[in-house]
Amino acid sequence: MTETLHIVGGGMAGSEAAWQAANAGIQVVIHEMRPKVKTFAHQTGNLAEMVCSNSFRSDDDEANAVGLLHWEMRAANGLIINTADKHALPAGSALAVDRDPFAETVTATLLAHPNISVDYEEITELPDDGHWIIATGPLTSSALGEAIAMETGADALAFFDAIAPIVYADSINTDITWLQSRYDKGDTEENRKAYLNCPMTKDQYEAFIDALLDAEKTEFHEGETAGYFDGCLPIEVMAERGRETLRFGPMKPVGLTNAHKPDDKPYAVVQLRRDNALGTLLNIVGFQTKMKYGAQTKVFKMIPGLEDANFARLGGIHRNTFLNSPTLLDGQMRLKSRPNIRFSGQITGVEGYVESAAMGLLAGRYAAAEISGTALNVPPPETAVGSLVHHITGGAEAKTFQPMNVNFGLFPPADAKAGRKNRKTRYKAYTDRAKVAWQAWLDGE
Ligand SMILES: Cc1cc2nc3c(=O)[nH]c(=O)nc-3n(C[C@H](O)[C@H](O)[C@H](O)COP(=O)(O)OP(=O)(O)OC[C@H]3O[C@@H](n4cnc5c(N)ncnc54)[C@H](O)[C@@H]3O)c2cc1C
Repeated sequence: MTETLHIVGGGMAGSEAAWQAANAGIQVVIHEMRPKVKTFAHQTGNLAEMVCSNSFRSDDDEANAVGLLHWEMRAANGLIINTADKHALPAGSALAVDRDPFAETVTATLLAHPNISVDYEEITELPDDGHWIIATGPLTSSALGEAIAMETGADALAFFDAIAPIVYADSINTDITWLQSRYDKGDTEENRKAYLNCPMTKDQYEAFIDALLDAEKTEFHEGETAGYFDGCLPIEVMAERGRETLRFGPMKPVGLTNAHKPDDKPYAVVQLRRDNALGTLLNIVGFQTKMKYGAQTKVFKMIPGLEDANFARLGGIHRNTFLNSPTLLDGQMRLKSRPNIRFSGQITGVEGYVESAAMGLLAGRYAAAEISGTALNVPPPETAVGSLVHHITGGAEAKTFQPMNVNFGLFPPADAKAGRKNRKTRYKAYTDRAKVAWQAWLDGE
């Protein structure tokens, strides 16, 4: 068994993982299929290519969860974040990046590292032995995708995401909504109250359908196919098929009694269901959508009870290869059935450049520790990196698992006294706590 670390995929996650492991003294080989084998989104043969937007999103490390992730990666000498800083463009409080020099610098830095080499080849099988990290991203090549599906079972590997919007539980108006599963089904009180229901009158429903039909939609990227169309239609497509379709689908009002007005029969009901074990996040059931983000916020706030909703993430449907990580991976991001293989990056069910790089940082450190014969604890859930890895490897509901951005709903609640009104103070309590915990984790405490 070789002590070299092999990393498949030199994107955001693979590049960061290689850097972290190589700096810990480990020999690393990156296996990257580009430029020999192309994807529909990548344009170059560079490592860490940004395929679409050039933004690393908010850089506010006091009141924003992705800004906190930047902070944690800087504290851990992250290659991706440090290179992004070097090639930052003016963008207000966001971190926008000059994409070509950014990817060229990451590539040159990795190629110049004495412990790193790059093999430009496609990997098509899961390796039987050795230390491996698979970080092949949302556009994992089809041969490797098939090999992964053979190992995990086809149901545990998705090729499209179908993301319903996710709402912070504490931003919902509970004077209007109530908790009840359809027909009170369930063997425990918790199961009988597993859904949060938002009732609509006929007028509200008609206005909602009009808004759905009028809303601006996003087109698929060239090369993406509309293969999602079985079983997870976007709600606006359902509405286009007939004004009553949603009332017989995800918005059907049957088996439910309005706890606030038992004699009022709702014309339609929107249901939300818990999205994480903490119960801080709820997803709107069956509401996957291709509406543009601005339109989504406007349309979903028309739902009674969600007028003041804060969204942890908005809905979407994309070409996206990702694992059912909560069932397949352990806290060290190893495939339970083949612990010599770790997964990292977007294929583990995080979403975005920054989150993927953060998971690369963690996987690289985990692998380096393992090869060196030491153990590295899972970062605490109070940190941004820890909140993500806890979410994907156990905190998320496995049955409805969909890719996730970092957000404060993934963290254990902090400073409840700050209350709903003072969001800035509340988020500062999260980020202050996270910074102390992250530094302690880095220091090995
Ligand atoms: C069309 C599209 C648009 C996107 N837009 C955005 C956006 O605007 N903002 C954002 O934050 N995120 C965006 N994303 C998500 C973004 O791609 C990821 O968050 C991020 O790049 C994931 O990092 P990663 O390292 O997991 O995968 P990637 O960065 O995609 O890296 C994976 C690497 O693995 C290689 N690879 C694949 N299969 C094999 C194989 N079998 N053998 C060897 N190498 C292989 C690929 O060539 C690639 O270099 C978008 C994704 C897509 C598909």
